[in-house]
Order: sequence, then C-alpha cells, then structure tokens
Amino acid sequence: MAKFDRDFLEEMKRMFNVELLGVASVTKSGSKELKKYANALLPGARSVVVLGKEIFQEMVALLGTSKEVGEAFSGDYFLTHTEYINGRLTNAVHGMAGFLRDQGYRTLPMPTVAPTDQRFLKAVFSYKHAAELAGLGTTGRHTMLITPEFGSRIKLTCLLTEATLEPTPKSRKNYCIKCNACIKACPSEALQIPKKGQAYAMNPYACRTYRVAGLTCSVCMKACDESQSKRRV
Ligand code: SF4
Ligand code: SF4
Repeated sequence: MAKFDRDFLEEMKRMFNVELLGVASVTKSGSKELKKYANALLPGARSVVVLGKEIFQEMVALLGTSKEVGEAFSGDYFLTHTEYINGRLTNAVHGMAGFLRDQGYRTLPMPTVAPTDQRFLKAVFSYKHAAELAGLGTTGRHTMLITPEFGSRIKLTCLLTEATLEPTPKSRKNYCIKCNACIKACPSEALQIPKKGQAYAMNPYACRTYRVAGLTCSVCMKACDESQSKRRV
C-alpha cells in the first residue's frame, strides 16, 4: 500500500508531468463549501488533489481585445494551446485517479472545464477554491488564481478521492499586488475595484457576453502577466 505523503505527491507530479500539484483535506480544511461540494460529487471524499499546468507566456503575449471581421487573429493560437494543455491535464488526472483506484480508493477525476450552472455562471466545483486551500496560490482581482510560479498563466483540474493524502499548506501570502492592470484592460468593464474584504468584483455576464461574440479575450490574464513580470525584473 502506498504511503500518501509529500514524497508520494512529488512522485505523482513527475509521473504525470504536471507543474503544480497540491492537496486540500476535505475533512480537515475547515471549508464547509469544499465539504459540501466534494461530498455531493463523491460521498465520503477525504481529499481533493489539484493539478496544474503552465500556459506558455509566448501564447499569452499574443492575446488582444478585438479583430476585424475576417481578419486573422494571433490570439487564436491561445485556443489551440489551451486545448493541448487541457488534453495533458485530462491524461494526468485520469492517470492519478487510476493509480488511487488500483489501491482500492474510490476516486473521481474531474474535467478541465467544470460543468457550470448557466443560470448563475457558477461551477459545480470550484478548482480555484480548492487550489487556494491546497496552497497553490491566491485569487486576484481578475477572479483567477495567481500562483508564485506562473502568475495566472495556469490551467487547473482536480480529483476527489476517499484516500487520505497529506495536505499541502495554505499560503499566507496574497499574490495579487492590487495594481488594477486587469481592471483597466478589461474591454467589457466586467471587472471593478472590489469592496474592502473582497478579493474581486466581477460581472460575469458582461465577460460572457463579450466572449460569446467569438473573441478569445483573456486580456486580464495578459495584463496580470505583464504586471507581475515587470515586478520580477
Ligand atoms: S476575459 Fe476579457 S471580458 Fe472577461 S474579465 Fe477578462 S478581460 Fe474582461
Ligand atoms: S493585474 Fe494586478 S490587480 Fe489584477 S489580478 Fe493581477 S496583480 Fe491583481
């Protein structure tokens, strides 16, 4: 029987070729929300594993706000790139789930794009919330996770398992530097300065309406990446 400690997690990270891997305890994290949504999907779930892969900076740099009808748009490279990343994450999450199932633990691998209740634009399980609890990063004013390694250039997926894995500690640092670059860059004014105590303020319908028009957008990710990169030099 495998020992589910930090060495095991490092081994899983290498074996399934993901850049980030963290664990939040469903039973001990203290998050009622995590407990409720995890148990709704896998009754008896004890751990959630969050897996993340980097989105290449070269692709994010090609993102932009608009294009003329019929014009080739370099930002469309981003779409095929994220499809590739999603495929790799799908392999990783199913591979790790298969490993845990072989050890006798019921395990549910989740898709890279979580099913969403379209009435409220709310995912049935928040990967971002699980990632925060697993210490992978914190939520920025653009509503996405910001990690110390890749900023918000990250794709996530999760698995739920009844195995008890060693949790990875929650970060004490807030990686959002509150520069508001994402808010200024948002073409649909979906992002606003949040009220005190809130991580973000967003009108998700404004964002969706803009993106439904066929635009890749994600310029909030690009603005954040540029802002965080400037800070690092
Ligand atoms: S994806 Fe585009 S429209 Fe949506 S919040 Fe980001 S910048 Fe605004
Ligand atoms: S662009 Fe600035 S304010 Fe927006 S999420 Fe990134 S660090 Fe936070």
